[in-house]
Amino acid sequence: MRLATLLLDGHETVCCVSSDGQRCWPATDAEGAPYASMAELIRRVSAVPQDMPAGETFPLDPAMLRAPLVPARNIMCVGKNYGDHVREFAQSGFDSSGGKGAETVPEAPIIFTKTPETVIGPGEPIRIPHGLSRQVDYEAELAVVIGQGGRGIARAAAMEHVFGFTIVNDVTARDLQLKHGQWFLGKSIDGFCPMGPWIVTADELDAANIAIQCRVNGELRQDATTADLIFDIPALIEAISAGITLKPGDVIATGTPAGVGAGFTPPRFLAPGDVVTIDVAGIGRLENGVV
Ligand code: MG
Repeated sequence: MRLATLLLDGHETVCCVSSDGQRCWPATDAEGAPYASMAELIRRVSAVPQDMPAGETFPLDPAMLRAPLVPARNIMCVGKNYGDHVREFAQSGFDSSGGKGAETVPEAPIIFTKTPETVIGPGEPIRIPHGLSRQVDYEAELAVVIGQGGRGIARAAAMEHVFGFTIVNDVTARDLQLKHGQWFLGKSIDGFCPMGPWIVTADELDAANIAIQCRVNGELRQDATTADLIFDIPALIEAISAGITLKPGDVIATGTPAGVGAGFTPPRFLAPGDVVTIDVAGIGRLENGVV
């Protein structure tokens, strides 16, 4: 099932989307009442929902799409989780966590976060913060949406806690990432996490092998699958929940493959007028222009 947050008559409304992405209808509970938000739906439904009642459907206009979910707390993200990206990032000179051994694959997941205020929807502009950063970069990623929460989740049970998947662009100010040593400031600039176009529930995807592609102005930059992840989704859930209680609606961005702008010589950062398009097989397309 595909679940989107749409702007209908001025109100953000949680809707089901047909499998071809062409039609939609408001999601309702067993009593026929709408959900106040995607977060509320996930809290109440927790596990992957069976078919929602289908009312009258209407055409989905992409302009209606909002970010499917604005998390209640920071989005959890994974650094250096694809081998080819570890190498390109080490060689780029932008890895302040690097130095000796930077090209070595991490022995444990590197986790950082982005504030909820970074989240923007499909079609909303990525804003280059003039005077703050001149090196804004894209990172196409599969994101996991947690359903049932928990602490100390074992690898074997991890997928039972996944509600679904969506796409994020972990937009990054490379100069701030380098300057401040820790990644938070360069990752958490307001509006730096496009998300969408919707959530696909976990029953519809094989998380172990999902193709991810990113294009800038139509040019293919990133092309990988989640089979290439250094730490797969169960490993990430196990590592994060070891000490942090995961809650329904938490979002974990799983890391970006090789092909980011910083990995080119010379680097190819985003500029006003660029369009970043991320395609993830089985989910759809997330596209945002740059201003
Ligand atoms: Mg990232």
